[in-house]
Amino acid sequence: MKRRRGTALLAAVAATVSMFSMLSAPASAADQWNPPANLVRPIDEVWRHVETTYPNLYGFRNYGWDQIMANRGYINYCVRWDSSQPVSAALRDRIHAGLARQFKKWMDVQLENGQGYNNWPYREIPLKVVGWAVRNRGTLQWTDSSVDIYVGNINENAPQCAPECGRFFNQNGSYPRCPGGVARHYDMSLWLTAGLGGGFGGDWGQRIGSEYYVNSLNNDNIHILLHEIGHSFGLDDFYDWTPTGVCCFLMKAGSAAQITEFDKWMFRDFWRHLKSRYGY
Ligand SMILES: [Zn+2]
Repeated sequence: MKRRRGTALLAAVAATVSMFSMLSAPASAADQWNPPANLVRPIDEVWRHVETTYPNLYGFRNYGWDQIMANRGYINYCVRWDSSQPVSAALRDRIHAGLARQFKKWMDVQLENGQGYNNWPYREIPLKVVGWAVRNRGTLQWTDSSVDIYVGNINENAPQCAPECGRFFNQNGSYPRCPGGVARHYDMSLWLTAGLGGGFGGDWGQRIGSEYYVNSLNNDNIHILLHEIGHSFGLDDFYDWTPTGVCCFLMKAGSAAQITEFDKWMFRDFWRHLKSRYGY
């Protein structure tokens, strides 16, 4: 469950004029910050550790946070189906729903009593799967045009959606060479690999085993995917140290299978330290 970031592509996110109204305008720059007393110290330790471990922490501009803010409140995905197993329309839709359900668990961390915590501006983050990438068209058993289909575009020995439509490759937020334009761009990939144990996560998306994922679709928590989504929002691994007084949490691989109170406050702390770049 390694954290893996893409090469640093540091083009600033272009500020675009929004046509969508946000739920709440930033009324003040004041922080809302009230973690439980027993978590104050370990949360502080985590942030110090992140700051010293990642010198480009504040320069990096493609966290999940940046992607959502560039979109003004939604996220688009490409599914990289790195498997020869056939996919029916029903399975396609379950794969989408499972991803949306796990993504929402992190987004809900940003809410308190139904309102955005610490100036978080979005109550809901719609998730769309806009494309599927496969080696052979015949693997996909549907004929409708609800998603764009990319066949035989191979990168890192796995099918990918068109780079022209990918946020990782177009971090200025415009997609002039994407056939479907901005509406069909994808921010992240859900890369499903046959036979893979564990996973990877980064600004490019999440990579986990296709069998694991399909077999977990009925589970409330698909914990490897949840963990890897955490990485896409900047959260670190904890292979070599443990914050004071906390034993078990999702980002400490193998110690928890759901987002815990500690994960929640780490997540909120990342937003707290980045939000000024969006004017909050
Ligand atoms: Zn990890």
